[in-house]
Amino acid sequence: MDITEANNDSLGIEVLLESVKTAPCCPHGPTLLFEKGSKEGQKGRRFYACSACRDRKDCSFFQWEDEKVSKARLLAREAENLSKKHLFTHQEYFKRFQQFASLPLDKKKFCQDCQILLMPAEHSAHSAHRTTAITVAQLRRPSILLRPLNNKKNNAQYLFSNRSANFLLDTLAGLGYMKVLCVGTPRLQELIKLRNLEQKHEQMRSLLLDIDFRYAQFYSQDEFCHYNMFNHHFFGEEASSAVLSAFVSELDGEKVVMVADPPFGGLVKPLANSFSLISQTWKKLQNSGDSNVDMPMIWIFPYFFEPRILECLPSFTMLDYQVDYDNHPLYKHGKTGRRQSPVRLFTNISPKDVVLPKAEGYRFCSVCERYMWSQNKHCAKCNLCPSKDGREWKHCSTCKKCVKPSWKHCHICGHCALPDHPCGLSQGKEGCFNCGSLEHKSRSCPLKDTHRISSYGRKAKSGGKELSHHPLLKLKAKQKSGAACRVKKLVAQSV
Ligand code: SAH
Ligand code: ZN
Ligand code: ZN
Ligand code: ZN
Ligand code: ZN
Repeated sequence: MDITEANNDSLGIEVLLESVKTAPCCPHGPTLLFEKGSKEGQKGRRFYACSACRDRKDCSFFQWEDEKVSKARLLAREAENLSKKHLFTHQEYFKRFQQFASLPLDKKKFCQDCQILLMPAEHSAHSAHRTTAITVAQLRRPSILLRPLNNKKNNAQYLFSNRSANFLLDTLAGLGYMKVLCVGTPRLQELIKLRNLEQKHEQMRSLLLDIDFRYAQFYSQDEFCHYNMFNHHFFGEEASSAVLSAFVSELDGEKVVMVADPPFGGLVKPLANSFSLISQTWKKLQNSGDSNVDMPMIWIFPYFFEPRILECLPSFTMLDYQVDYDNHPLYKHGKTGRRQSPVRLFTNISPKDVVLPKAEGYRFCSVCERYMWSQNKHCAKCNLCPSKDGREWKHCSTCKKCVKPSWKHCHICGHCALPDHPCGLSQGKEGCFNCGSLEHKSRSCPLKDTHRISSYGRKAKSGGKELSHHPLLKLKAKQKSGAACRVKKLVAQSV
C-alpha cells in the first residue's frame, strides 16, 4: 500500500508526509506539513498546521516551515499543550470505572454537562449540573450515553445504525476474523462486547483507537488507545503503541481486521498513510514473511472519495453496501423505504467474499464477481456495474460510458451533463472552486452562502495574528463542503 506521490489538491495545497518526525507539536500530536501554491518544478511555501482540527477555535496552531519561533512562543505553546491535558489519566479513569461499576444503583450518576461518570464524593460538586442515573445496561453503551461530538467542522460523530453495525460484525465473523481493530468506530467496539455477553456469538476481541478521550472512562488500556488517525499519533506514547502491536499480532492464531470510520471532512492522504503504517506494524509481526500481503482493512467513507482513496491505496475496492447512521439526518435509514446513503465500504478484502444481504436489495453480479445494489445493473458495453450513487445509470453511446440517469448528452459540450448545465461555457477541469462539484461554477454553488464556507472568511478577518491567512482553512472548507454539497445534491436528486 504505497502512498502515491501525485496527490495534488486542486487548490494547490498538498500534504507532505516526509517530515512527521521533526514536525512541531500541537495538543493533537505532531502537526502536518503542507505546501501551498507549488507549481511544476517550483517549490511553494510550506507551513505546519494541526492534523486533526479544521477550525482554529479547536486548534489555532500555525507555523511557516522556515519561521523562527521565539522562546516565549515555544513556552506558551507548551503551556497550551499542557492545559489541554485531561482531568484524569486513562489508568485513573479505568480505576474509577471499576469502582463505579460496583456502586449501588442509586449512587451511579453521570454528569451530562461534564460528560463524566461521578464518584459519590463528587455528586455535590455537580449538583447544579444536569446529572442522570445510570443503569448497568447504560454503562455498557457509552456511545449512547455520551453526547455525540457535533462539531461540524472537525469531529462530528455519526453512529452506526444497528443494521449496519450488525452487518459489519456478521460479515467479519463469517470471514473468520476474531479481532477487530476499531479506528474511530466506538459503537462497533461496544457491539462486539455486547455480543460477547450474549454468548450466542463467538467471542470476538476488539481494540478501539479514537481521539475522543471520554471513552477512556469505559475501557481498560487494553481496549482503548487515545489516538489521532491523521498523524498516527498515540497520546499515551510507547505503552499505547505497544497495545496496538500486541493486538494486531496474530501469533495467538486469531485473524485481525481493521474497521475505520473517519470524519468525512478528513484529508484522505494522511488517513491512508496512517492505515498503511498500521498495516506495516501488522506485517512486521507476521512470521509468514509474505511482505506482499497487507492487513485486511475496511475504510468507511462517502463514494465520491473513491478516486482519491484508490489513488492512495490501489489495492482497495469500493463495495456497493450503503452504510447508514442513527444520528445523521441525511444518511439515516428511513422507516418507509430507506433513503440512499452515500457512505460505502472501501476494502482490500476480496469483494466476492463480502456477501451483501439479498433481503436489503443486493444481488450477485457473476460478471463483476461481487455483490451489487439491485439498481446497479450490469452494462454489457462497459462490462461493469457502473452506478456509484445507488441510482440506475444509463449508457451513452457517444460518451461510450454509463452516466447518471439525470444527465443528457450535450452536443455542444461534447459530453453528458445535467440538462440545465451552463452550456458552452468552458467549465475548466476544476468546476466549482467552492465545493469541488464539476457541474457548476462557484458563482452558482448552492453552498456558497452557507455558514460553513463564510465562517472561515469571517474568522480569518476578525483577528488572530497567527491564522489570518491560514491557507488550510480554504482547503479544508473546500473538501468538507464538497462532500456536503454532493450529499445534498444526491438527496435532492434521489427524491
Ligand atoms: N460510525 C462510527 C463513528 C464514526 S464518527 C461508530 O458508530 O462507531 C468518527 C469517529 O472518529 C468518532 O468516534 C471520533 O471521535 C473519531 N475521530 C475523529 N477525529 C479523529 C482523529 N483525528 N483521530 C482518531 N479518531 C478520530
Ligand atoms: Zn491541534
Ligand atoms: Zn455502459
Ligand atoms: Zn454522452
Ligand atoms: Zn452543453
